[in-house]
Amino acid sequence: MRGHGETGTTGEHAPPPPSPHKTGQPSRRRVVFGGFCLCCLPSAIYAGETAPLATEEIASGIHIRRGIDEDATLANDNAIANTGFIVGIEAVLVTDPGGSLTDGERLRAAIAQTTKLPIKYVVMSHVHPDHVFGAGAFLKDDPVFIGHARLKETLHERSAYYREKLAAIIGPEKAGVVVLPGMEIRDRAEIDLGGRIIEVTAHAASHTVCDVSLFDKNTGTLLPADLVFIGRMPSLDGSLRGWIKTLEVLKNHAAARTVPGHGPVAADWPLASAAITRYLTTLERDTKKAIADGIAIDAAIKTVAASERSEWKLFDDYNGRNVGEAYKELEWE
Ligand SMILES: [Zn+2]
Repeated sequence: MRGHGETGTTGEHAPPPPSPHKTGQPSRRRVVFGGFCLCCLPSAIYAGETAPLATEEIASGIHIRRGIDEDATLANDNAIANTGFIVGIEAVLVTDPGGSLTDGERLRAAIAQTTKLPIKYVVMSHVHPDHVFGAGAFLKDDPVFIGHARLKETLHERSAYYREKLAAIIGPEKAGVVVLPGMEIRDRAEIDLGGRIIEVTAHAASHTVCDVSLFDKNTGTLLPADLVFIGRMPSLDGSLRGWIKTLEVLKNHAAARTVPGHGPVAADWPLASAAITRYLTTLERDTKKAIADGIAIDAAIKTVAASERSEWKLFDDYNGRNVGEAYKELEWE
């Protein structure tokens, strides 16, 4: 297991900063870090010369870019999560906006290449940097930024730390600003893109404390973001028991396919939930046993869920911390 803060990564497993950044009460939905004001956003540097990222149309009007199975590096611009956009008759919805300003600008260029319709909605599925730092690229479109009702408070707690980490890896000019949601989802909402309704559902603590999933009724496509990982090691940053329960509910959601937060751009549903459910239930079972056997957390980290090692990329980067989180959650039951 890598220790906190020494991985060079930016967020799938980054802890909250020791002292939450206080941004006060922003008059609008956005907060600016790093000394940039909105009129001198470095995005201007890229205007007109941004190479659009490659997306795949996985169902009619749903375009997804596959994130690579790495942590953030200078070379990858933190373009590590699956991101994309959904096109209706009247408007475009972005989900997620990408892992950096550069990643978001390239997604925006891909949208411009595909449709002239306005970008009216940008969904930030949860607080992790690889899913939110591209949002700044879309400020010029003046969309409604959508997130879980707890996203704002979680960004207040963590975003300064996340941005500092990301800027140290890819440079402050490429990292992007932090954007707060203007539309907060407490339970469920429907977004009308014109001839296309997107359901947004807020979940109880699971992968994080602020996960939303999307469902496109037209094509029966479920977009659960990081509630589903395929092939890349999941990171636990919310509640293990909550996540298992959330997957149980989502499994019963009739959907033709899913777009995981990490992994292939599309997969059959609910088949795609099998591997992550197996990992999470193994993590729960082994952690409970370690606690019952009186094994200390430091020792448990080395053994719990070891049977899953060959099944996941980046297993050793994340399993130890997941065990630590699970142990803390389950030891007082
Ligand atoms: Zn995540």
